[in-house]
Amino acid sequence: TPIADLNFLRKAILGITEAFKADSFKEKINLGVGAYRDDQGKPYVLPSVRIAEDKVVSQLLNKEYAGITGVPEFTKAAALLAYGPDSSALDRVAITQSISGTGALRIGGAFLQRFSPGAKTIYIPNPSWANHAAVFKDSGLTVEKYRYYNKDTIGLDFEGLIADIKGAPKNSIFLLHACAHNPTGVDPTPEQWKEISEAVKSGDHYAFFDMAYQGFASGDTDKDAFPIRYFIEQGHNPALAQSFAKNMGLYGERVGAFSIVCADAEEKKRVDSQIKILVRPLYSNPPVHGARVASTILNDPALNKQWLGEVKEMADRIITMRALLKKELENLGSKHDWSHITSQIGMFAYTGLTPEQMDTLAKEHSVYATKDGRISVAGITTGNVKRLAAAIHAVKP
Ligand code: PMP
Repeated sequence: TPIADLNFLRKAILGITEAFKADSFKEKINLGVGAYRDDQGKPYVLPSVRIAEDKVVSQLLNKEYAGITGVPEFTKAAALLAYGPDSSALDRVAITQSISGTGALRIGGAFLQRFSPGAKTIYIPNPSWANHAAVFKDSGLTVEKYRYYNKDTIGLDFEGLIADIKGAPKNSIFLLHACAHNPTGVDPTPEQWKEISEAVKSGDHYAFFDMAYQGFASGDTDKDAFPIRYFIEQGHNPALAQSFAKNMGLYGERVGAFSIVCADAEEKKRVDSQIKILVRPLYSNPPVHGARVASTILNDPALNKQWLGEVKEMADRIITMRALLKKELENLGSKHDWSHITSQIGMFAYTGLTPEQMDTLAKEHSVYATKDGRISVAGITTGNVKRLAAAIHAVKP
């Protein structure tokens, strides 16, 4: 069941951190973390964020409450970033600031629980981010899974995915990872997205996009937003959860947005008001500091340009580490096909290693990651990639 899976994963992740801390070996490697690390393995605060923070602080703003839906300059810019400046949807998007991506998903879950016309069932990919099932279950939705990952090809089970969308009862909700699927790193191609859009439409289903990694996948925020923009072009009116945790490195500031593309400006007004009715008893209104920082970056042209460059640098470092890991494995004479390491996208890679092999990695090589074989590529550095490759080669010769 999704909940059993969740408990397993939660335990697995906490277990790693504890085991990692307890290990006294100097060259131990932690590939369990879900946050970006620089090439020294250190947490990274973006220079654009430092500048924006200085700007925000120097304005000596007051600390009054934001409105229920947050800082308007922030939400307006967040919508532009996701939907694009030329989007036909901009004047009919209902949007609210949220407690990062998780909060956006939770508001979306509650909204759909209230207003979805169908059986109030949400389909999430198998596997998915460990928290999805719990968030939607707590929102009062029924959670089901659709096929996504094919462990034999370490790639997408595209036929299974399409069959499950088509086979679901009409008016089901489909949670789609917009880019950089977590945990597999496996994304559909643009051509496959077109078929997914058709399948969602043919089932009269509703698309709910989770975009926790815009810019982090390809290094290009427009390219990463392709599925959402394409769905809108095709006449879908999707919902969207946005997070600025990864692409701005604002993890603990909890900056995000939830939005719904409405049929027209009239419907948008009604949806805006229902979102307020929903958010008010949840937390009254969101925190302002992080949203001010994000808003400063998004609305200042020079800073925005700098930030896009920094996002690309992070994405590029991850892409470089993927290539380096594959090359080191090949240099060691590994006869396995490691091309999935470089074809997968985003922060995580599914290695295809078994739980037993992952256990051996931890116990004998001090390399820590979840038992499902997922490694955080952000934890790889030029300093540890050789040792990592040797360890993987040793457990899977
Ligand atoms: N969705 C996905 C797919 C994620 O991987 C994450 C973070 N790991 C989130 C949503 C939410 O993150 P946050 O609440 O920190 O924005």
